[in-house]
Amino acid sequence: MQDKNTDNILDISKRRGIVYPSFEIYGGVSGFYDYGPIGTRIKKNVDDLIREYYVIGEGCVEVECPTVSPEQVWVASGHVKNFSDMTTECLKCGQPYRADHLIEEDLKISCDGMKIPELQKLIDDNNIACPKCRGKLDKLYDYNLMFATSVGAGKGAMTAYLRPETAQTTYLAFNRLWEITRRKIPFGVLQIGKSFRNEISPRQGMLRLREFSQAEVQFFAEPENKTMENFGDVAGISVRILSKDEKEISTTIGAAFEDKIIKIQMIAYFLGRSVQLFGDMGINTEKLRLRQHKDDERAFYSSETWDIEFMSGAFGRIEIVGISDRGDYDLSAHQKLSKQSMEVNIEGRKFIPHVVEVAYGIDRPIYCVLESCLREDERGAYFAFPTRVAPYKAAVFPLVKKDGLDERALEVFRLLRKSGVYAIFDRSGSIGKRYARADEVGIPYCLTVDYDTLTDGTVTVRSRDSKEQKRVKIEEIVRQLD
Ligand SMILES: [Zn+2]
Repeated sequence: MQDKNTDNILDISKRRGIVYPSFEIYGGVSGFYDYGPIGTRIKKNVDDLIREYYVIGEGCVEVECPTVSPEQVWVASGHVKNFSDMTTECLKCGQPYRADHLIEEDLKISCDGMKIPELQKLIDDNNIACPKCRGKLDKLYDYNLMFATSVGAGKGAMTAYLRPETAQTTYLAFNRLWEITRRKIPFGVLQIGKSFRNEISPRQGMLRLREFSQAEVQFFAEPENKTMENFGDVAGISVRILSKDEKEISTTIGAAFEDKIIKIQMIAYFLGRSVQLFGDMGINTEKLRLRQHKDDERAFYSSETWDIEFMSGAFGRIEIVGISDRGDYDLSAHQKLSKQSMEVNIEGRKFIPHVVEVAYGIDRPIYCVLESCLREDERGAYFAFPTRVAPYKAAVFPLVKKDGLDERALEVFRLLRKSGVYAIFDRSGSIGKRYARADEVGIPYCLTVDYDTLTDGTVTVRSRDSKEQKRVKIEEIVRQLD
């Protein structure tokens, strides 16, 4: 699956500190990745862009809940019982496998929505064996993906789990959130944070992590009213759609809703907003496809579920957001187990709100940003990140290290930092090498302090993408950097 682009992405990522495997000095553990100094800046920018869309754009509130939660939470949500992968192990070497992935790789078919008996039959009928040692595979079983832990010590210790999603932890404080947001409906709650899934044998680098980041938005709505006032804002957005009968069509969000391909207006709206958001992140929107979940793939409580997939050159389809009408499933389940009412009362009408969830991964979209922004020309490979996602906005160089130029360049660097601009200072190697290093990690502007700076107070501002250079007065720089 590796191609030249993937090699470039991996090479720059590891060498320059975007992402790299965790615990490397102890041999690493698959499914865990560090964000390095450059990657962490990119990730914060992606988080903030999501906040801009939802907290500012949609008027959502934001919460942050614990990653460890007691067993009841996951009993109520159904995760203790159902959050599992169908697994098999090699009888000879003991290697565990996710059955659907094993079959998909062997038979080149899709196993979406298949249950244990179907998968077992495919393995038996096609004599699928252990890819490592050709040993026979054991019977399939359900393997729960939650990391279990315990809270406290001794007899009073309580079983707990690392959360497999942020959503449930958002629902728990529903009553408080309802009061805090002044009892208006619909209202949305964003949570950005870590979640954990003990994947059987994750490969695919940062696409399948055991500890990963999510940004999940829960919109609480009236059961009979899932419309959006601002729907007109997204109606004109062009999209490619794979409907549940596997037909691919090109249309717009507005037309897809009119034609009842997307039935719930809130879902159509957030599909449109997500396409815009991914575009602003730097993801190539021509590679996005909206895919509706098939009836046997969708959770039983959901009336409609859609994903947006990025069609990756190296990895095929990558799911980067899931948007789902969850009905009153979650609030009702927590009401039942906790015996706390989740009902609201609007002018005498009592009901449990429905939830439309917009669930973004963070790590997968970041990979899609890397793949979309990778460029290659005579400079070599580099990332053309949008300015708002780039790790630093500017790099500051003295042309040479003498005649007071580096002191003057340091002053410019300090001025940028004082103004709240993320910038780096680099004075090692030739100016060409420094441009190349800045381009490689996608810094949009390079500022060079030269002899003219000493006489007229201007610096050379060079743009990464056009390579154009212009002279800008030092006091004007901050305003010119957008
Ligand atoms: Zn084996």
